[in-house]
Amino acid sequence: MFERILVFLFGLIMGSFANVCIYRMPKNLSIFKPNFRCMNCNSFIKWYDNIPIISYILLKGKCRSCGSKIAFIYPAMELICGLLFLSMFYLFGFSFALIPFCLLLFSLLVITAIDFKFQIIPDEISFMLMVVGSISCFCNPVLGNTTGQRILNSFLGFFAGGGSLFLVAVIGKLIFKKDVMGGGDIKLMAGVGSFIGCGKVLFAIFIASLLGSIVGMSLIIFKKIIKKQEIAFGPYLALGTYLTLFLPAPHIVINWIMTIEEKILVKLIN
Ligand SMILES: [Zn+2]
Repeated sequence: MFERILVFLFGLIMGSFANVCIYRMPKNLSIFKPNFRCMNCNSFIKWYDNIPIISYILLKGKCRSCGSKIAFIYPAMELICGLLFLSMFYLFGFSFALIPFCLLLFSLLVITAIDFKFQIIPDEISFMLMVVGSISCFCNPVLGNTTGQRILNSFLGFFAGGGSLFLVAVIGKLIFKKDVMGGGDIKLMAGVGSFIGCGKVLFAIFIASLLGSIVGMSLIIFKKIIKKQEIAFGPYLALGTYLTLFLPAPHIVINWIMTIEEKILVKLIN
């Protein structure tokens, strides 16, 4: 129980840091020298008014100096990050692998918010993922059972994740004469691939495309967006990656789908 609380609290703190990154990275401001000031009255926020979730509840969601509202998204992000870290504890327990995977989910959370709002994926995060994913492959059970398997799968995942989206970008450019895939998506999935390996990264991209097209179609049907407007793909890639962590190996899932299809077909024929 103690370990769980520790992981959750660490998640809350990292969620608070995620808010700093989401606010400052798109503006090219330093994330290591955050100045905690009220966005309305510019007064300094004291440390005791900056405790994840607790301060928000104690201050009733208002700035201590000027009483202006603090957006609900800030404590919400902290809570989501805490829960994401807990879900990694559920997968990996209190092991070495917990650290890189918490970092992966933290990055995916930040990328989801920034890409959704600004349609960019910061290179710094993708490069950091490539480095951490490659270095930590030795203690990463998702990549395989032996050290040899893990190194090879991390390497293959890097090229499969980045390469497949790069191919989509090149083919898309030839057919549609415009950019269909952002460079940010390519770099992100190369980084993710080094964490989850070849099979899972391709599967994550498949899930992301499926979710993206379902949401995209519904938005077009309900006329929320016009057809040519670009939709950020990063949030779907992040969600696809997260889901693959909980699903068994891709070939097992495909077997499931085939069995279900078979059953439906048999029912329809009878
Ligand atoms: Zn204020």
